[in-house]
Amino acid sequence: MTELNKGTVLYVEDNSDNRNLIRRVLGAEGYSVVDAINAGQAIEKLEGNKIDLILMDINMPDMDGYTLTTKIKGIQKFSNIPIVAVTANVMRGDREKSLEAGCDGYIQKPIDIDTLSQQIERFMTRSSNA
Ligand code: MN
Repeated sequence: MTELNKGTVLYVEDNSDNRNLIRRVLGAEGYSVVDAINAGQAIEKLEGNKIDLILMDINMPDMDGYTLTTKIKGIQKFSNIPIVAVTANVMRGDREKSLEAGCDGYIQKPIDIDTLSQQIERFMTRSSNA
């Protein structure tokens, strides 16, 4: 295959504008992007695709991203997939809360589309070296 494929990212996000933006940005950088609008769909997409990294929105209406992260990390076959929290919350303690929930890192909203690919690559590399 000559096609550039840096890996498959699952983006869990309830906001369609964000989903479209990130799909476009990461697609242009050579990633495949699978998305999910809620926790149930996220699990379905994990079951049906080989996911290399999860970008996890924290503020979602049904199950929040912290809870979903803990759930995914508790499923053995998914527990090694890096999860990067995407949060608009800038309150002190949010970073700790993300890590406590099992996230491997976090990025802040609004997402900086110029550095997103680099930020994601760091976590991909870390997981493939593990
Ligand atoms: Mn949201």
